[in-house]
Amino acid sequence: MSITSEEFELFYNKSKTLKILGENDTDGSEGLDVNVGDSVLAMPDLSEYRHTDYYRKHKTLAGDMYYQGKVVKLGQRRGGSKTMPVLAMPDLSEYRHTDYYRKHKTLAGDMYYQGKVVKLGQRRGGSKTMPSVVIAVDWYYTYYDIEKAFGSKLIDKFKLANMGHLERVESNHRDYILPQNICDVCHPKVFKEDEISMPLMDPEDYFMRGWSLDIISRSKFDLEGQATVCYDSCIKNQMYNPADTDVELRWCMKCRKWLHTSCVDAEDDDDLQKAKVRGQKYILLADKSLWARVISQPIRRVSREHKAPLSLEKLQRRLISKWTSGQVIKDQDLMEEVRKSGLFDGEIPDDFLEMVEVALTLMGTPEWMTCPICKSYYI
Ligand SMILES: [Zn+2]
Ligand SMILES: [Zn+2]
Repeated sequence: MSITSEEFELFYNKSKTLKILGENDTDGSEGLDVNVGDSVLAMPDLSEYRHTDYYRKHKTLAGDMYYQGKVVKLGQRRGGSKTMPVLAMPDLSEYRHTDYYRKHKTLAGDMYYQGKVVKLGQRRGGSKTMPSVVIAVDWYYTYYDIEKAFGSKLIDKFKLANMGHLERVESNHRDYILPQNICDVCHPKVFKEDEISMPLMDPEDYFMRGWSLDIISRSKFDLEGQATVCYDSCIKNQMYNPADTDVELRWCMKCRKWLHTSCVDAEDDDDLQKAKVRGQKYILLADKSLWARVISQPIRRVSREHKAPLSLEKLQRRLISKWTSGQVIKDQDLMEEVRKSGLFDGEIPDDFLEMVEVALTLMGTPEWMTCPICKSYYI
């Protein structure tokens, strides 16, 4: 695959503004296995963070300022000159004296740029001093990046403020960078606000909700147009932030919608007397079997820091559908049900039964609610 001259111009224009800090290894990235579709991390230029308090104190990047993106293309350029600048990345000498580096032998924080590789290319021939491989990357945007890029065109700043600290948004902001600017491959967790499935998340995980930004047209960034959770009376701006551990989400299978527990009143009478007419008799199961205890819980979305080490929602949905259609469920079949539900993304740990038990114990006794939208389903 080769890149066009326009793309090469983009690479050149971007890179000539940056200072070379590291060694320019013309052989490209040694030992780095990057493929189209991978998510990658990259470092911003020193000029982007040298004025931060964190940098003044630690002489390195802080927090979550790394760019993130998905590799979408690998390209090649033809020829070039000796004076061609390359993209900058802090040399080891810039951070080897930091406490963090002494302790962890790596950069502090999560300030790498992250992006998706969209194209990998090699040039044919050219001089020895020229980089031979160029990588096209579509960057992932942080809250700060979005604010900077869209400014007054932001439709809803209030909602933007509810973006998570570790949240990234896919963009079509494409850069052409050298392989040595890529530090690593990253794996942001992706979920959609209006879908029941949720990856297992740790509090320190980067995550994306399936949103995308059009940086090229710079049209208004309309958060209203993105999938949302909850309903009109929501007090959390109809967004789910995994770092907000004070709240959990409940799924209404009728409305196919997540609702914040903070936005819904708990049930007055907790005998759940309408369970039968609502087709939810399974929530009254007194059975001691594991499958029964799994489906007699509300379907909840919680981050792992908060109460549950697992999000059981996929397994619950599967078992409830089975129960509702009158099929017999047995604990002996749970392994197969767990596999089909995709709860562990295909790799089922040996102690999965124990993990499900722990999740149930941590979830405790549920406080049921009635869905405020359909008013005919316990959540
Ligand atoms: Zn809400
Ligand atoms: Zn509902």
